[in-house]
Amino acid sequence: MKDKTAIIIGAGPAGLTAAIELQRNSAIKPILIEASQQVGGISRTIRYKGNRMDIGGHRFFSKSDRVMRWWLELMPVESGTSPEGELRYQGQQRDLPAATGAHDPQAEDLVMLIRQRKSRIYFLRRFFDYPISLTAATFRNLGLVRTFRCGVSYLRSALLPQREERSLEDFIINRFGKQLYLTFFKSYTEKVWGVPCHEISAEWGAQRIKGLSLTGVVTHFLKKTFVRGRSGDIAQKTTETSLIEKFLYPKLGPGQLWEHAAGLVRKGGGEIHFGVQIDRIHVVGNKVVSVEGRDEAGKRVTYAGDYFFSTMPIRDLVRDLSTPAPAEVVEVAEGLMYRDFITVGLLASRLAVTEKDGSPLKDNWIYIQEPDVVVGRLQIFNNWSPWLVGTPGKVWVGLEYFCNDTDPLWKLSDEEMSRLAIAEIAKIGILKAEDVEDFHVVRVPKTYPAYFGSYDRFDVIRNYLDGFENLFLVGRNGMHKYNNQDHSMLTAMTAVENIVKGVTTKDNIWAINTEMEYHEEK
Ligand SMILES: Cc1cc2nc3c(=O)[nH]c(=O)nc-3n(C[C@H](O)[C@H](O)[C@H](O)COP(=O)(O)OP(=O)(O)OC[C@H]3O[C@@H](n4cnc5c(N)ncnc54)[C@H](O)[C@@H]3O)c2cc1C
Repeated sequence: MKDKTAIIIGAGPAGLTAAIELQRNSAIKPILIEASQQVGGISRTIRYKGNRMDIGGHRFFSKSDRVMRWWLELMPVESGTSPEGELRYQGQQRDLPAATGAHDPQAEDLVMLIRQRKSRIYFLRRFFDYPISLTAATFRNLGLVRTFRCGVSYLRSALLPQREERSLEDFIINRFGKQLYLTFFKSYTEKVWGVPCHEISAEWGAQRIKGLSLTGVVTHFLKKTFVRGRSGDIAQKTTETSLIEKFLYPKLGPGQLWEHAAGLVRKGGGEIHFGVQIDRIHVVGNKVVSVEGRDEAGKRVTYAGDYFFSTMPIRDLVRDLSTPAPAEVVEVAEGLMYRDFITVGLLASRLAVTEKDGSPLKDNWIYIQEPDVVVGRLQIFNNWSPWLVGTPGKVWVGLEYFCNDTDPLWKLSDEEMSRLAIAEIAKIGILKAEDVEDFHVVRVPKTYPAYFGSYDRFDVIRNYLDGFENLFLVGRNGMHKYNNQDHSMLTAMTAVENIVKGVTTKDNIWAINTEMEYHEEK
């Protein structure tokens, strides 16, 4: 009998996970087709003159033990830094398997670091804790008048909430009051999505920031202040530890794990073809029979197989079907929207701001809430992993711009884009223009599948594409879902399991990440 093959479109986290899981659990040979020259997709590591960039900053943390084990099987955790053997993140806790052997990042590369999260909001040219906390520093930074206004507007919302929450704006104001909404939410959220908060559905708020409210923040503050004080040292220790958030991070950035995964796929007999953009999906009846694309030499290439996994954007997939989809499916697919992303790496001799004690800033990333600049977020790559910085003693930061690929911003040349980035970071006082020594601009299309446009009719597409029995939509853009790496991986793992066990429903793949508890909060 002829060996079976699975054609996998895209060598990002979902595609590579599918390949490894097929090799581990079946005799099906994986063949990955990747449009770019690199594995890792959005989770790749970008190299520039010995420096490395991470798009968006990828924390490796999952509520799924299966994913945590999978990552650590591929890349062992560094030894010696986590005596308590556990990670905490966004209220979730994970035990780590005991480190086997010594894995010293000074001596070897294939090591998962344990990093402590620090991120703050930059507003009014000052730093605020993220998530917002009620501390003396917060009140000092806000000033008396603004603090008073926040209190009054919160009370107004608490006593007279808007009955019908129609938009994200209503949702946040009802929970925090108008003044806090204007101070900490509006500008950044609108930078990310490019639409006013009153045009974003309230449901999005319910999914993304459910459980957050000023009442929660106040309760946390009161507990910290009074309960801790009364219960002595042990409770104090517990409280403080629970506030420390840690995550895993590959020494050389997220792409290092996926490059290693790609090596394993090849070693196991799988294939990875780079530089081939799939633009035709050949279907016969309710089956996909082959996919076709153009390679870098301009030659048309076709890959036939028994199973097909797609991580390519759904809008493109529907456009590329050899038999056109019904008009309604095409209409909904064409209405799907995306948000694109530009990151500008700046190499500098120093930052213009420091921690209070004069030491370098410790943040992994900083939300830029200032409305007078377009930049949305700042990554300090040194604090993700010191090994992302090629030249010791330099600061390597990433300025992130959220935009649409139709915006004038997207079309700026690298020189123009870097000039804008340098001018903006200097304007808000974080870095002096004369301290910048080099830059690197990266444009990443379709980083965010949007939950507006035709998304509320997404089931029309899902029902149609689920009808192709050997086609498995997995990953982030592959499912048009706000999936993190772990969700993307779990969709691939579940699809492989279905194939191996002969399960025909795809509901269990779609069910992953529906409760939306842990997200990249961006
Ligand atoms: C700003 C930002 C921050 C994030 N932070 C985190 C985080 O902290 N933690 C976390 O776990 N996750 C995070 N994520 C999510 C994570 O990046 C994604 O979940 C993950 O990369 C999705 O994997 P994927 O394989 O589905 O898709 P992708 O990573 O998008 O990979 C898809 C691959 O398919 C290829 N491809 C597309 N179309 C075609 C085609 N037609 N033909 C051939 N190849 C094609 C692409 O080139 C790409 O390599 C973040 C994402 C963003 C945007």
